[in-house]
Amino acid sequence: MNEKVALALDLGGTNVRVVAVTESGKILSRQHSPTGDSSSDGIYDEIARLAELCRVEAGVSEFVAFGAAVPTTTIGDDGVLAHLPNIPQLEGTNIKQELGHRTNTQVVAVNDASAATLGEYWLGASKGSKNAVGITLGTGVGGGLIVDQRLYVGTGGGAGEIGHIRLVPGGRPCGCGGKGCLEQYCSATAITRSAREGGMSAATAEAVFELAESGDAAARAIFSEMGSYLGLGLSIVNNLLSPDVIVIGGGVASGWEQFFPATMASLYENSLPDRRSRVKIVRALLGDDAGVLGAAKYTFQQL
Ligand SMILES: [Zn+2]
Repeated sequence: MNEKVALALDLGGTNVRVVAVTESGKILSRQHSPTGDSSSDGIYDEIARLAELCRVEAGVSEFVAFGAAVPTTTIGDDGVLAHLPNIPQLEGTNIKQELGHRTNTQVVAVNDASAATLGEYWLGASKGSKNAVGITLGTGVGGGLIVDQRLYVGTGGGAGEIGHIRLVPGGRPCGCGGKGCLEQYCSATAITRSAREGGMSAATAEAVFELAESGDAAARAIFSEMGSYLGLGLSIVNNLLSPDVIVIGGGVASGWEQFFPATMASLYENSLPDRRSRVKIVRALLGDDAGVLGAAKYTFQQL
C-alpha cells in the first residue's frame, strides 16, 4: 500500500476508540474498549493494546503518526493534559510521551470537539465549505471552528468552547465554575434537569423526547426552550464568525424535530440582518467516526 496510514484515538469518558486511517479517509481497522476507572497507566496501556490490534488488522508495519482526540480544554505543546473532568486520572499526564513510548509513534493531540468538527469538514456535513462551526450536544456541549479552511485551535488548544458562552447572567451553575453557560440549557443533562424541575418523571433526555413526540405539552416546552437557547448561542457565533455552515451533532441532535424550529427562530431573531438567512444549519453525518477521522486529518496536516 502506498498511502500513508495514521492511528487515531477518540478518548471519551465512556469509551476509548482507536482506528487506523488512510490519508484519503478510509478506516482500515477499528477497535474500542470501555474507558473504565483504571489508573492513567491502565488507560494508556489499553490504548496501546488497541493500537497494536489495529496494526495487525490493517496489515501496516508502520504508522506515520498517532492523532489523539482528548476531552480537555487545555493541551500543552509538550502534550501535558489539564482540565479533564470526565477522565480525571489523566490530569497532568503527558499524552505524547505516554502513548509515544508505548506505540513507538509520534503523537499529535487535539481537543475532541475540534477533532469532530474537522472530521465533519473533511468527509461529512460541512465538506466543501470555507468557514464552518461544529457543535456537539451530548452530556455536555463542545464546539470547534474551521476558519479559512483550517481548524482553529487557539492559544492553549481549546478554542471553540461554545458550551461555555454565558447565555443567562447569574443562571444555572456550570461545571466550569461559571453560571448560565449554554451547556446548562442545551445538553442532555440540561433537558433532564428541566424535566425534573418541572416535576416530570422522565429520567433521561430520550424519555423527555419520546414524551414530546407523543404530544406531551410540558415535554414539548422543554425542547422548545432548549432550542431557543441554542439559537441564541448560535446567533452569537454567527455574528462573531459569519460561517457558511454550522454542524450540529451529538446524542441530543436526535431530538432535532422537537428543538430545531425554535432554534431557527431564535437564530434569525438574534443574528445580524446580513447573515440571518445565509448561514446553513445542518446535522452531523459521521456519528462516532467524526472524532477519530478529525484527529487523523489534523495529524496528517501536522506532518
Ligand atoms: Zn460553563
